[in-house]
Amino acid sequence: MREHTKIHVDGAWIDPQEPDVLAVTNPATGEITGRVTLGGARDVDRAVAAAACAFESYSRTSPAQRAELLERVLAEFDRRAEDLAQAVTLEMGAPVTLARTAHVPAGRFQIADAIATLRDFSFSEFRGGTEVRKEPLGVAGLITPWNFPVLQIAGKTAAALAAGCTMVLKPSELAPYSAVVMAEIMDAAGVPAGVFNLVPGLGSVVGNALSGHPDVGVISFTGSLETAARITIAAAPTMKRVLTELGGKSPQILLPDADFGIAVRTAQEWMMAMTGQVCSAPTRTLVPRSRLEEFLSVLVPSLEALKIGDPGSVETQMGPLVSAAQWHKVQNYIQRGLDAGARLVTGGPGRPAGLSRGHFVRPTVFADVTNDMAIAREEIFGPVMSVIAYDTVAEAVAIANDTPYGLAGYVVGGDPDEVRAVASQVRAGYIIVNDAPLDWGAPWGGYKQSGNGREFGSEGVAAFLETKVLVGG
Ligand code: NAD
Repeated sequence: MREHTKIHVDGAWIDPQEPDVLAVTNPATGEITGRVTLGGARDVDRAVAAAACAFESYSRTSPAQRAELLERVLAEFDRRAEDLAQAVTLEMGAPVTLARTAHVPAGRFQIADAIATLRDFSFSEFRGGTEVRKEPLGVAGLITPWNFPVLQIAGKTAAALAAGCTMVLKPSELAPYSAVVMAEIMDAAGVPAGVFNLVPGLGSVVGNALSGHPDVGVISFTGSLETAARITIAAAPTMKRVLTELGGKSPQILLPDADFGIAVRTAQEWMMAMTGQVCSAPTRTLVPRSRLEEFLSVLVPSLEALKIGDPGSVETQMGPLVSAAQWHKVQNYIQRGLDAGARLVTGGPGRPAGLSRGHFVRPTVFADVTNDMAIAREEIFGPVMSVIAYDTVAEAVAIANDTPYGLAGYVVGGDPDEVRAVASQVRAGYIIVNDAPLDWGAPWGGYKQSGNGREFGSEGVAAFLETKVLVGG
């Protein structure tokens, strides 16, 4: 059993003033794996005060000093990589192979990229005699979800450290273990007291207190649209900057000459491997009507062959959903798909054969989906694919853009010019063409209701900076 009873404030592990204990369950078994003590609003006050105090000196460090500090964080991160992977698997059920090859390396990349950004970033530029300076914004509140916990914490923390900000992290209550390891990494790397503070807690308590706190200058949030709206309202009276990375209903457009092998791999890697719990998952696949049955005949056997089960096994390709609430939500959407008249091609309600406990669901594909159905419009966050037939490429683009979201898009086709032309028409922040690997150093974020601002790379660092102009002198 894991037992974490402290919060991390001002360089020390201390007791929260208003403790509340949360039992953490294993998504694969439902068994309790540990207990985490949560903080409250008064703990947020203490953590923000420590961060504000530390800001006085940390904001005056040079970019070179901050790069040196991040090098030490990176070395410590590497030393704890396996602990991070095990924590992710235990808390949110990602298959351990995926945790080792994707979750942890993606987090590592963000720290390494923040160091690289510091080497190139220009914190001061001159327009004639006018200096335009970039300065650390202040105390940052970092509020993270559970689906890629190491990536999300590492990305926000590294960017804030690179910018010269101090911070208070409130991780998801569903993924508390990896956050504790990250705090231990900061400690061991010698991050000065008060620069990084960790207050685990409920969103409605700790997250809300951070969002409204007058001494917090910026909230960097990743999570759902509903929560982002609450945070924005709580933050409004203090005019703090609110950066939001939210959900999606991302289209995958298969052009008439598409290689379906690529489309199937994308569906597996970007959707099924994480049990559909990916903000940028290609949940709507747009297929030429004349090739619909051919596509399904390639897709379905590949999904039915997936090894679903214990995320701790290196053989497992798809683990459980994170929680019972998520399991019921996904079941509800599968039922809504059936009720709306979509054609169930594989999967469906209930559990995969042989898995009677844990939050396991069946990889599910609906064909004959129309874009007005709930399964095509709302973020399910489960392994449920909607396949939508189209007659012309112009119609495919129109369907792709007919969504309140705009996080990611995928375009698969044989003619590079046509693929790029179609990709240009998709209104989303990140478009993946054919089977290109992700560029983790490029800015990440959404159009429309998928959020505002950008994370990662130099834009991610800039999110934590203010601009000051000095004229004359
Ligand atoms: P969530 O919105 O439920 O929770 C996210 C965080 O917000 C948690 O730490 C939670 O405790 C906190 N929170 C909840 N209520 C709050 C409040 N009133 N005030 C302040 N904080 C509060 O999201 P989730 O279920 O953890 O994550 C899944 C969502 O995240 C999906 O919508 C997914 O698409 C999105 N997501 C987006 C990206 C991206 O980069 N765009 C990446 C991953 C996940």
